[in-house]
Amino acid sequence: MALRIRLTDQGAAPVIICDFCGEQIENSSDGNYEWNGEEYRNGMLHEVFFVHKENCSRLHERRHGKVLDSMELDVLLPFMAANLGVEWDRALKHAAYVAEPIG
Ligand SMILES: [Zn+2]
Repeated sequence: MALRIRLTDQGAAPVIICDFCGEQIENSSDGNYEWNGEEYRNGMLHEVFFVHKENCSRLHERRHGKVLDSMELDVLLPFMAANLGVEWDRALKHAAYVAEPIG
C-alpha cells in the first residue's frame, strides 16, 4: 500500500511511498508505477507497485524475477483523473479551499 497520508504542520498530505525502499517518492520524475501484466485480459485488475526509478526499480523487478510493465509517475495523475471523471477546474478550486489555513 504505497499511498499514504503524511501529517505536516500544514495538514494531511497524500504521498507515495516506494514499495522497495520504504522512502517517499518526492518527485514524479524519479518514480514509476509497475505491475505484472504478463497475463492480459480485458477488465483484469493487477496489483500496482510504486518505486524510485533510478535506485529501486531494477532491484524490485529482480525480487519479482522478471521485468514488470511500468509507466512514469508523471502520467499517473492524468490517467487517474480521466478514469475518475475529475473536473480539473472544480478540483483545483476545492483543493485550494480545503488547503486554506483555519483562523
Ligand atoms: Zn525506493
